Amino acid sequence: MNLYRERIRRLQALMQQEGYRLAVLSFSDQMRYLSGYMENGHKRFLALLVPWSEEPVFVVPKMNALEAARNPAQISLVYGWEDATGWQDTVRTLFQGWDIRPGQAVLVDDELYAVHLLGLQSIAPNLNYLPADAVLSRLRRVKTPDELSAMRRAAEIIDEVMEATLASLKEGMTEEEVAALVKKQIQQHRSAPSFEPLVCFGANAAMPHHMPDTTPLRRGDMVIVDIGCTWEHYASDITRTVAFGAPPDEEAERVYRTVAEAHYAAFAVVRPGISCEEVDRVARRVIQTAGYGENFIHRTGHGIGLSCHEPPYIQEGNPLPLEPGFCFSIEPGIYLSGRYGVRLENIVTVTETGALSLNRPIPKTLPIIA
Ligand code: ZN
Ligand code: ZN
Repeated sequence: MNLYRERIRRLQALMQQEGYRLAVLSFSDQMRYLSGYMENGHKRFLALLVPWSEEPVFVVPKMNALEAARNPAQISLVYGWEDATGWQDTVRTLFQGWDIRPGQAVLVDDELYAVHLLGLQSIAPNLNYLPADAVLSRLRRVKTPDELSAMRRAAEIIDEVMEATLASLKEGMTEEEVAALVKKQIQQHRSAPSFEPLVCFGANAAMPHHMPDTTPLRRGDMVIVDIGCTWEHYASDITRTVAFGAPPDEEAERVYRTVAEAHYAAFAVVRPGISCEEVDRVARRVIQTAGYGENFIHRTGHGIGLSCHEPPYIQEGNPLPLEPGFCFSIEPGIYLSGRYGVRLENIVTVTETGALSLNRPIPKTLPIIA
C-alpha cells in the first residue's frame, strides 16, 4: 500500500477506536505526513479533511487544485474554491454528505489559523473541536527506518556545517555574518535550514533564543551556535558552545563541564520504558547539584522529525514512556544573565536497548577556538 495511504489508514483506525469523527489538517507537517503534499495557502483556507471511514478530501483554493491533485497519497477528491464565493459552502456540503452530527469530536490541526477555526465553528457550532497534534503524534513519534535514515543524513550535514563554522570564526565577525555563513553552507549541501540559525556572542549567549544581530566577536567571548537543516523534509538540530580565545573567567570551564555532564547523564538513562520526565530530571539534577538549578530555564529537549519541534517533549509533567524509534534532543543549558551561557545539544534516537546519538559526540571540556 502507498506509504501515505497506510498512514491515513492508521489514523482512521485510531479515530474509529476513540471516536473522532473527522480530522481537519491545515498546511502543516501533519498534512505532509499524511499526504506527502503541503502547500502554503497564503492565509487562504487549504485543508486535508480525513473522516473516520470515508475517503479523505482536499479543500483548497482553486489556484492550488492542480498541484493538490498530484498529491503522493493519490487522494482524488480535490475541491477547489473560489475567492468570490469562499470555502464555507464546500465544507458545509461535505459535512452534510458525511452526516456529521452535533456533539461529535473533530480533530483540528494545531496550526490551523484561528480565523478558519472560527469559520468551521460558524458552519458547525455544535461539534467538539479538539487539538489534532496529540493524536497525530502517536503515529509520528516512532520513526521508521526510512525516516531515521533521512534524519541521519540531516544530522551528518549539520555536523559538518558546525565544524566548518566553528573553525572559521574570526575576531570582529558579527553574529549575522556567522548565521549567513551557516545558511550558505547548508545550501551547498543541497539542504535547507530547519530554523533560523542562532548565533550568540558573549552576554547574548545568556539568552537562549537570542536572534543574530550586529554584535562583533571579541576575544574572551563564549559563543553558542544552535543550527539545523533538513533532508527529505526531516530535520536536524544541534548546539555547540565554545570559548573564542581564553575563556572569560574561571567559572566558564566549570559551567561547561556541568552542562556536558548533564547531557551525558541524560543520554545514559535513555532506553525503552523510561519516562520523558525522568530524562529531564536526570539532566536537571546534575545542574542543580552543581548549584545552577535556577539557571537552567527551559526543558531538556523536544521531539524531532518532519517538524523541528514536535512531541514528545522531554520535560517535567510528561510521563510518556520512551519507545524504540523515538527521536528527540537532549539540550541542557546554564545561562548567567549579563555574562554568558552554555547549551549543548545532540539528537538521540531510542533503540531496543538504549540510545544512539545521531550527531558527533559533544566535547566534555570547553573547546577553545584560538
Ligand atoms: Zn537547537
Ligand atoms: Zn533543539
